Amino acid sequence: MEPIDITARLEQKGVKPTPNRILVLKALHTATKPMSLADLEEALLSLDKSSIFRVLTLFLEHDIVHSFEDGRGVLNYEPCTSEGQCDLADAHIHFYCEACKRSFCMADIPLPNLSLAEGFTPHSVSFVIKGECPDCRKKHG
Ligand SMILES: [Zn+2]
Ligand SMILES: [Zn+2]
Ligand SMILES: [Zn+2]
Repeated sequence: MEPIDITARLEQKGVKPTPNRILVLKALHTATKPMSLADLEEALLSLDKSSIFRVLTLFLEHDIVHSFEDGRGVLNYEPCTSEGQCDLADAHIHFYCEACKRSFCMADIPLPNLSLAEGFTPHSVSFVIKGECPDCRKKHG
């Protein structure tokens, strides 16, 4: 992922860039994979779980991050790649490795066109394929 200006990003999404918010978004942008709350806790030792959770809740409200459930039903978070309001144009399929419990973005695989019945407004889409990642496949031969 290209290096981005975290502060500018938060302002662009209409959120005041506080130190905690900058730390959390930076961690998500630095990671090459979606992160769970536990992953973020591990990466951000200076922040406690409830602070991270508060920031994530705010980020979700402002389309700064998107969340999806991985194969265990654990929420994973990843930064939104759209500018301003997001219409889920950046939603994509995820792959969950059942062996190493990591989630991978399949950003090149577009989601099927979801034509929902009138009156239904989607806020997030979860599309997870479960299996084995290349690393684990190699290990298991
Ligand atoms: Zn988005
Ligand atoms: Zn794996
Ligand atoms: Zn993703």
